[in-house]
Amino acid sequence: MVECDVLLVGAGIIGLSTAYHLKSVHPELEILLVDKLGAAGQGSTAKSAAAFRCLFASRTNFALADSSAEFYRHVQDDLGFDLKLRWAGYLWFFDESGYHKMLPVLKDLSNRGFKYVEYDESELARKLDMRTDLANDEEAQMMGLGNVYKGIVIPKAGLIDVDSLVKFYETEYLRLGGKIQYNTDVKELLVEPRSPLGMPGEPYFWQDASVRGAKTNRGVIKAEKTVIAAGAWTAQLLDPLGIECFVKAKKRQIFSIKAKTEALKKLLFTKDFSAAGCLPFTILPKPSAYIRPAPEEDALWLAYADEFPRAFKIEDDPEPEENFYQYGLYQVLVKYFPQFTDCQPFSAFAGLYEINTLDGQPLVFEENGLMVAGGASGSGILKADAIGRIAAALYEGEEYASLYGGKAFKVSDLGLKNRNIEPEKLVI
Ligand SMILES: Cc1cc2nc3c(=O)[nH]c(=O)nc-3n(C[C@H](O)[C@H](O)[C@H](O)COP(=O)(O)OP(=O)(O)OC[C@H]3O[C@@H](n4cnc5c(N)ncnc54)[C@H](O)[C@@H]3O)c2cc1C
Repeated sequence: MVECDVLLVGAGIIGLSTAYHLKSVHPELEILLVDKLGAAGQGSTAKSAAAFRCLFASRTNFALADSSAEFYRHVQDDLGFDLKLRWAGYLWFFDESGYHKMLPVLKDLSNRGFKYVEYDESELARKLDMRTDLANDEEAQMMGLGNVYKGIVIPKAGLIDVDSLVKFYETEYLRLGGKIQYNTDVKELLVEPRSPLGMPGEPYFWQDASVRGAKTNRGVIKAEKTVIAAGAWTAQLLDPLGIECFVKAKKRQIFSIKAKTEALKKLLFTKDFSAAGCLPFTILPKPSAYIRPAPEEDALWLAYADEFPRAFKIEDDPEPEENFYQYGLYQVLVKYFPQFTDCQPFSAFAGLYEINTLDGQPLVFEENGLMVAGGASGSGILKADAIGRIAAALYEGEEYASLYGGKAFKVSDLGLKNRNIEPEKLVI
């Protein structure tokens, strides 16, 4: 049997950031981070599109995303750990009604000092060799595709190399003396009475009990505190204890197209929108399928986060679906970007969003001695640093966490009992 102060379940980006921040504040703590997989960041973290943006209208989103991005900038620029950050920006296409709906939000953001650049449809058509007006395209009309009326570029946004970010947190946590055990599958959480009486089947409902570690495929791990950062798998560990976490899994898929033709190369390496030397992360108007440039592999990744009737379903190894590309993404993309005509994916992968069904924002809470950090709902990379700091502050019993840059964030705002989340108005 292994004993430690803190057992952290899940070495995804949230578990790693939490482990690192906890160990930074408390070097004396014996922390054991475990994961059922053979290396760090191999769950949903490895499947991410690895895009980030700092422009959000809600106070919650902005605080989490901006401070995390600034920390990643600091890691790269000041600590010299190359995260391959590319400030390529986000390019958002809007149809006319979408644009007018978003205009007051954008104006408000601009009054608050946020920067964005607006492009009209003719500029976009010229710079990107794209079709912006689909009004006379019968098929596009049948599919309900929106025209591109405006494009908004958010410069403080871009791409990050997730493997490098994972390596950074893992290396630094280990350097501080933290321990990691891979291939360790938590089968069940251990619940014990605070004052054991030695009765069979303890604890009984009248006893004061708490979570004191876990049973794993490699034996029992006893811990003063157990922290679950198991991403989309969180409910599998909490449901048997009757703890509601509001996290559900939904498959998300990415298809990679090699930029083999001159037209696709031109699109991928367009220099018109930023100094990053590639296309921004580009989001179509309706439906909001996206193109994620992957210049380091001469590719463009295509994806769409579909909702109804996509099931909530936990899968260990979700598979990308050929038809999702063939009859879904391809048909939409090619209407705007004829450059993709006849393109087949060179590779594809799928992962799970860990969706918080309450409000789509991360959760950091404690119940019966068990802490939970996760539910980032598809934005875990871009908010990971802040979430790790907030989880470490909850462990400390602090009312406020100090985010990178010094901003205070009320810990209970991400909790369940006194949750305080400002709804996001700048929705993709
Ligand atoms: C296709 C796709 C695109 C995405 N794009 C972006 C993006 O552009 N930007 C962004 O910010 N986010 C994006 N995301 C979301 C982002 O990847 C996640 O929010 C983030 O990785 C979640 O991190 P996590 O640590 O909570 O979960 P995970 O990375 O899944 O980590 C959880 C870990 O827990 C382990 N685990 C689970 N159960 C157990 C158990 N019983 N015992 C031991 N270990 C266990 C798993 O093996 C896993 O390693 C995307 C996700 C997908 C799928």
